[in-house]
Formats: sequence, structure tokens, C-alpha cells
Amino acid sequence: MSTFETMHEPLAAREVVLGRSTHVRRILPHRRHRMIGAWCFLDHYGPDDVTIDGGMWVPPHPHTGLQTVTWLFEGTGIHTDSLGSHQEIRPGQLNVMTAGRGICHAEVSPPDAPQYLHGVQLWVCLPDEARDATPPAFDHLADLPRLVEPGIELTVFVGELAGCASAAPTYTPLVGAELRMAPGASVNLPLREDFEHGVLAVSEDLIVAGTDLPRHRMSYQGCGRSELAIATSPTSTEESIVLLIGGEPFAEEIVMWWNFIGRSHEEIVEQREAWNEGGFGGRPARFGTVEDFGEKRLLAPVLPTVRLKARGRIG
Ligand code: MN
Repeated sequence: MSTFETMHEPLAAREVVLGRSTHVRRILPHRRHRMIGAWCFLDHYGPDDVTIDGGMWVPPHPHTGLQTVTWLFEGTGIHTDSLGSHQEIRPGQLNVMTAGRGICHAEVSPPDAPQYLHGVQLWVCLPDEARDATPPAFDHLADLPRLVEPGIELTVFVGELAGCASAAPTYTPLVGAELRMAPGASVNLPLREDFEHGVLAVSEDLIVAGTDLPRHRMSYQGCGRSELAIATSPTSTEESIVLLIGGEPFAEEIVMWWNFIGRSHEEIVEQREAWNEGGFGGRPARFGTVEDFGEKRLLAPVLPTVRLKARGRIG
């Protein structure tokens, strides 16, 4: 149907440098689609050789009003947070941290990490009624529902897809899944028509709904689709990794700045001050402390001179 063609839109990533040398491909927020469902942030990184660049090293930093979803395709990491969590992050296992009113966490590569690190960092915006009412939490789901067919392995980490339902805590209707496809494989995924979706070609070129999707790009699919055909490129000789995210279009306008999500300029000012209080050695009550990091923590940068504006899901 031609109506589907008009909804197919390949979103290109922006190259962003984090810290000194970590290069990431930022897919969301995108200038045309700031969000897909409540998914409001998507960084794709790697595969990076950790023996060269030292791997992941993100010192304690805060979050508000969102959930972080850490998903690895390859490698390992260590998550620690102000709730006292200490969790090894592994491919195929879900780590979801719910910030609520305030939390802080750190992520580092362990000394014995495998050579390559490859993954995505996602954020989910919490709806207004849940963001302050939901207590900070960290959930590790080692056993996720999987659908295995010849040439296909589907892992659902958030929400429900193709009869697989994840137990991850969600606050809006949402889906997140990883698909691994052998060369020559194709699949027709059943979708919820009230969801918009994004399909990221993680490792190889793909064919999504009959259209070429180059590696590292995301195909945006608007609401109204009941199924989606995904096929490997005829030229692929390696496994194709695919990330699917989707959800009910998010109706609220939000202010996203640094690691905070609020609803107004004033709220962000308040959150920034609450985190930066006390400087490097500070132990901010609202966010807690990640023990074992000493005084190392990331302070929030200076706010822009213009007022931050609440914005909706479409650029
Ligand atoms: Mn974080």
C-alpha cells in the first residue's frame, strides 16, 4: 500500500563524541522525530575495541523523570547506582533503571571485559502521573522471552511482541526487541496498529517493508501498521542484528536537558542545582551517592542563556 510507503522514513544518526574518545551514533532525539512512543533517547555505539579505547567509563551522574534501558549486543559492563545495585551487564539480558524523582548511577567496563563492546543506551520518558510518584528502582532481567525459528531469534526486552511478553516495568504502552537473522532470513512481525515503531539496522543493511535500510539507520514507521516485513540484504554474509522499538505516541510536551527530563525550565534549574550542590565531593540527598567512586562524579554543565522550552514528540 502506498500509504505505508509515505510512512517509511530512514532516520540518519548524528555522530556524537562522549568524554574524550567514545564515538556514538545518536538516533533519538531526531530533528523530525524527537520520540518514538515514550522512547526519547537512543545512542548506538560500537563495536569498539576496549583494549584500545579503555571501554565504558561513565562516572556517577543523575537522572530524573525517565528510565534507562541498557542493552548490549557484545561485551560486558558493570552498573552501580545509588540504590546500592551492583550488576554485571551482559548481552541478551535487560537492565532497566527507573529514575523517578532522582537517582544516580555509573557504568564502567570490568578489567576482564571481552575485546569488543557493542550496544545501545535508551531512555524511556515517564508520564507526568508516574514520574514523581514512582520510587527509584533498578531491575535486572536475565531470562527474557525468546522466539526461535530457523534463521531467526527474537528477544523481547520490553512489552509484548509475537506472543513474547517481558516482565520489565513500563508506565506507557511500549515495546522493545532484538532480532537476530541469519543471512537470507526474513520475518513478518505482527505489530500493534496504535503504536509507532522504529527499526534500527544495527550490524548489516536490511530490507524493511520492501525498502532498503542502510546499516546504522533507523526506519520510522508511523501508526496504522498491523505487520512489518524485515529481510536481510541479499549481499549480507554475516548475521543481521535488528533493534525494534515502538509505543503509543507520547502526548505530553517535555523538557529534556543533559540527564534530566522535566516539564518546565524551572524544574530543570531546580534539578541541576540539587545535583551540583556541594561540588565534586557533594552527596546530594535527592539523588543519593554511588559508593566506591570517591569524589568522582559528573557535574551538570552551565544552563543555556535562553529559557528551555517544553517540546512535543515531533520536531
Ligand atoms: Mn545514565
